[in-house]
Amino acid sequence: MSTPPAIVILGVGALATARRIQPCYEGARVHGLQGRVNDADVAYTELNAHLRELYSSGTPIVALCAAGIVIRCLAPLLANKGVEPPVLAVAEDGSAVVPLRGGLSGVNTMAREIAAALDVPPAITTSGELRFGACVLNPPDGYTLASIDQGKRFVSDLLAGEATRSEGDAPWLDDVQLPRAEDARRAIRVTPLAWSGATDELVIHPRSVVVAVDAKTAGDGLYERSLAAAQEHGLAAQSLAVLLAPLSLASDPALRHAADALQVTLRFTADDAQPARSAGMLSRSLRVPHKTLGAEQAHIAFAVAHAPLAPATVGSARGRLSVIGLGPGDASLMAPAARAALTQATDILGYETYVKMAGPFRAAQRVHGTDNREEMQRARHAFELASEGRHVAMVSSGDPGVFAMAAAVLEALDDARNEPHSAAWAAVELEIVPGVSAALATAAQAGAPLGHDFCMVSLSDNLKPWSIIETRLRHAAEADLVMAFYNPISRARPWQLDKARDIVREFRAPATVVVLGRDIGRPGATLKTTTLSELKSAEVDMRTMVIVGSSTTRAFRLDSSGKEWVYTPRWYE
Ligand code: SAH
Repeated sequence: MSTPPAIVILGVGALATARRIQPCYEGARVHGLQGRVNDADVAYTELNAHLRELYSSGTPIVALCAAGIVIRCLAPLLANKGVEPPVLAVAEDGSAVVPLRGGLSGVNTMAREIAAALDVPPAITTSGELRFGACVLNPPDGYTLASIDQGKRFVSDLLAGEATRSEGDAPWLDDVQLPRAEDARRAIRVTPLAWSGATDELVIHPRSVVVAVDAKTAGDGLYERSLAAAQEHGLAAQSLAVLLAPLSLASDPALRHAADALQVTLRFTADDAQPARSAGMLSRSLRVPHKTLGAEQAHIAFAVAHAPLAPATVGSARGRLSVIGLGPGDASLMAPAARAALTQATDILGYETYVKMAGPFRAAQRVHGTDNREEMQRARHAFELASEGRHVAMVSSGDPGVFAMAAAVLEALDDARNEPHSAAWAAVELEIVPGVSAALATAAQAGAPLGHDFCMVSLSDNLKPWSIIETRLRHAAEADLVMAFYNPISRARPWQLDKARDIVREFRAPATVVVLGRDIGRPGATLKTTTLSELKSAEVDMRTMVIVGSSTTRAFRLDSSGKEWVYTPRWYE
């Protein structure tokens, strides 16, 4: 299954059953209602909205609650064609497993798997399944029906007493109790060739065809041209499994578009060989018998294997480097895009502490924790891994572009432009995913101290001379900007914060509001409001964010809760 299911629970009573289901699906997480379930993997605030969001995004749903509740939540979405992920209701004590939706996306298979894990019989209600012991219309991964409507007609013919024969390799049908007859008029045909439209056959396409293109094929219309070429050879679009292109085309958007439109996996060859040649050369990697279609001089050629292909065995993947920000620490403050990169990555790179914060990881994911302070070296390592076709997630806390790895990664790429490996690095799909930076997270805890113009300054003189820092502090103080100090102090830099405070004091009143946020978004977080004159470096360490207010920043305390709020108004007098 491509997307792991969300196991959704409403209360702690269902947690034990949820945890029994979880091991059935790698990557499955338990979603718990916030406030009622503390130990879930993902928290949600409202069941209705949450189920609808999961369903619309095509995520399989295993809901541990009454079937009626699930149906009511999803009812408004059921009329829409398009994604139809499996949806199941499971009794919270594990005594009943009810497949609700997704007959064609494997809901009954899931019902069987979950029921087996819970040691109960699944509540299967699909006639074809009950009669034949399997859903004929839901072939296993690697196979697709030519037409669902024709499939439904075909199955109802069989239910009405017709017999069928099979042509082609359909190993999963061997154990299915179909009414068979060698001379039957009806046939189940497993073939990469397109369905003729005949109503007495059920055509199932194995995803067994590689489309190989060359650099000359690139550009707009690649999708249409590939489809037309497939049609010329009589191949069904649903049989296509892989679009194979030279790596030099990796960043051509037309290629991505064509792969998405054809619903195939994009894979790459290292050279610009003729498509027919690269399709022909697949014999070594495919390890299954196949034939090549397409003339030597054609720009599009096909390799047709005898069985469904595992795309990962064809050519190599385009490497990816996701430079992500984890936010301050709390998982709820991490952008979903960063979470997605962490889930998909094959390799995770970063400081030991941050890597720990980003986990846990699957056993198959390689974790390269490092204490290496040499940022450029780490950036180059990330590109080396990614250019081998791996998906690397490089983690920083907060935002990766704020005193963190993103700049080093771009600098490494920039520096490499004249190196021999530049083409391989340039082919890497690079993305930078923003995060909630420490200044923003701390400000939100305190209120809105950054409500007006502000600046972010790192007090570390490891990478820049202290004289520059002093000049900036002076100008920022004179300009009456609110200031967020990153890296305010460390054992090796004990005096810098006091010096910075003294500089700001030359321009700002002693009563200027100062916010100290330590370990914000992490266990043991503390938040303190003080003033410029009382700011002591003993209260600050390298895990602290120091926000120095402007002349207009103010603080007030609510009588009722005692909570102190800090804000900088958006206007000046
Ligand atoms: N990329 C990070 C900043 C890295 S510099 C970001 O955008 O947040 C490291 C400094 O950030 C620390 O010395 C501290 O000043 C601040 N910092 C990082 N995480 C913090 C947290 N959770 N709470 C308070 N300050 C934090």
